[in-house]
Amino acid sequence: MKFLEEYRNPRTIRALAEKIAQTTKSTWKIMEVCGGQTHSIMRYGLQEILPKEIELIHGPGCPVCVTPQSILDQAIEISRQAILCTFGDMLRVPGSRSSLMQARAEGSDVRVVYSPLDALEIAKCDPRQAVVFLAVGFETTAPANALTVFQAEKQGISNYSLLQCHVRVPPAIEAILDSPDCRVDGFLAAGHVCTIMGTQEYEVLAKKYRVPIVITGFEPVDILEGVWLCTEQLSKGQHLVENQYRRSVLSDGNLTAKRVLEEVFEKADQQWRGLGEIPESGFRLRKKYEAFDARLRFEFSQRSSSTSTCISGDILKGVKKPPQCPEFGKKCTPRNPLGAPMVSSEGACAAYFAYREPHRG
Ligand code: SF4
Repeated sequence: MKFLEEYRNPRTIRALAEKIAQTTKSTWKIMEVCGGQTHSIMRYGLQEILPKEIELIHGPGCPVCVTPQSILDQAIEISRQAILCTFGDMLRVPGSRSSLMQARAEGSDVRVVYSPLDALEIAKCDPRQAVVFLAVGFETTAPANALTVFQAEKQGISNYSLLQCHVRVPPAIEAILDSPDCRVDGFLAAGHVCTIMGTQEYEVLAKKYRVPIVITGFEPVDILEGVWLCTEQLSKGQHLVENQYRRSVLSDGNLTAKRVLEEVFEKADQQWRGLGEIPESGFRLRKKYEAFDARLRFEFSQRSSSTSTCISGDILKGVKKPPQCPEFGKKCTPRNPLGAPMVSSEGACAAYFAYREPHRG
């Protein structure tokens, strides 16, 4: 297939739904890891055409949703002392007391950029100003952010630094599988993350936990094909890594991106919003690049404290679905979000609100 419409073709979609129905032999819960996949599932009503024995559970793959409040609080403090650059979807994410949007309204210099290289350029143009890029996201975005640090070091741009909170998918899948309330029989892994990282880390997980993992794309045909491959494996008692997203993912991933990542970052324990700390689930700057760590350049006076009623942890682990949150569509809406999953374009709560009419407040 070459064109987008082919991945949304109703006839292909119906044929795949039929194949899934024929393969389904039991009640199975399949978790799609990525928020982009969740949005496709909701937008195209894919759960509705699956047999009732197959339940799609939404995973922790929304980068904005899993960024802890403490990072937002630090970014807000930095924005009072320096130029804080970030992507637009971070502006409305609630910290423990405020948001970057509010900080900007109160006079902070918060700038929306479309690439981390734009932030580096701002620093280059005005060497007297400290410029910080708020770098969040999975392995997909980490290489570009690492590249800015690599270039800043090479070009001697010393007024640039990174407030980073990158997260890695495989340790999160492992934490979900280790959780006592785990309900997952198979995974659809995120195609874009594997485009960068390849498939090897997932082989280890599939073997250790005896769980099928299908690396899957984002269009309806991709997702249904991923579900079908998963049900095929479950019906045969297999636990393999399969690559549905062959048009993008190679088993070794993107070697150039991985080299930059390896050069600048090393693995580190990481705090996830709603999930707590997961060992080796993030990155930190290597010693050589420590001078570009915004956390070491700025002082933070406030401790994060939250009284939020948001149950994003249960949503991100797939234990609950957004309509099960008492605030969903009532106190919490995209206009007035109480938690990150309602803000982000990849958040599960935002997807349910946008595509499930009956749940609108
Ligand atoms: S509906 Fe709002 S409060 Fe509830 S889990 Fe989602 S983001 Fe949090």
